Amino acid sequence: MDVRERVAVVTGASSGIGAAVAVELARRGATVVAVARRADRLEETTAACRRHTSDSFARPTDVGAPGACRELADEVAARLGRVDIVVNNAGISPGEDPRRRALADADAIMAVNFFGPVALVDATLPGMLERRSGSIVNVTSVSGYVPAPGEPAYGASKAALSRWSHGLAVDLHGSGVHVGVMSPGPIDTEIWGHGDNTYRGKLYPASVVATAIARMIERETVHATVPRQYGAVGAVYPLLGRPIRWGVRKYASHQER
Ligand code: NDP
Repeated sequence: MDVRERVAVVTGASSGIGAAVAVELARRGATVVAVARRADRLEETTAACRRHTSDSFARPTDVGAPGACRELADEVAARLGRVDIVVNNAGISPGEDPRRRALADADAIMAVNFFGPVALVDATLPGMLERRSGSIVNVTSVSGYVPAPGEPAYGASKAALSRWSHGLAVDLHGSGVHVGVMSPGPIDTEIWGHGDNTYRGKLYPASVVATAIARMIERETVHATVPRQYGAVGAVYPLLGRPIRWGVRKYASHQER
C-alpha cells in the first residue's frame, strides 16, 4: 500500500519504536494519529509528524481499557473520514513474578499486548473490508518465539499476538486488507527500564524497526524480524529441546539471582 495521503493510527507513539514509526509514516506522506497514555510525550511525536502532514494529531488513549479502542476508531473516522493503516505497537514488559502473581501479571500484560491490538482491529477492520483496502501491522517480539528470562507472560502475549495475526493474514487473504507481523530483536528504547531486567547484549536503534514497518506496509509482507538474524534464533529454538543459555547470560538480573 502506498502510504501517501493515508490515515495511520500508531499506538505506543509516545516513545521508542512507536514514535519512530509515527514520524517515518508522516515523512512518507501519511496523516498520523499518535496514540499512547502520556499526552506530553505524544505532543512531541505529533509536532514532528506535523512538519510533514499538517492534519496529524495526538489522541491520548489507554489501549488496554475496555471500549477505549472503539472510541478511538470512532473519533478518527469522525475527524479524518477513515482508518487506512493500523500499527499496533503499544506494549508493556513491566517485570514479572510468576512464583507469586502469575495470573495478575498475565492479566495486565495480555490486556495491553494482546487484547489492545485485537480491540483496535475489531474497531477498524469492517471499514477496511468495506473499502477493500487497509493495512494492519502488529508488533510482536523475538521473545514470542524464544523465551527470555523474567518475562513468561510477556513472551506469551507476543506469541499469542503473532499466532493471531498470522491467522488473520490467512483469513483476510484476497480481501484487500494486508496483515503484517513485525518481530523486533533487542531495540534501544525505554521498555528496558520498566522491569528488573538489564540487557547486556547489543541494542539496535528504533529507526531500523520504523523503516522496516514502513516497508512492510508498502510491500505488503506478512512477516519480518529486525534485525534479520534474530529470525534464525526463533526458527532453531524449537529444534534444540533445551534453553538457549547465551540469551540468559545477557540478562544481568537473572544471572545474579
Ligand atoms: P517503549 O516503552 O519506549 O514504548 C512502549 C509504548 O507503548 C509507549 O509509547 C507507551 O506509552 C505505550 N503504551 C504502554 N502501555 C500502553 C497502554 N496501556 N495504552 C497505550 N499505550 C501504551 O518501548 P518500545 O518502543 O521498545 O516498545 C514498542 C513495542 O515493541 C512493544 O510492543 C514492545 O513489546 C515491542 N518490542 C520491543 C523490543 C525492544 O527491545 N525494545 C523488542 C521486541 C518487541 P505510554 O506509557 O505513554 O502509554
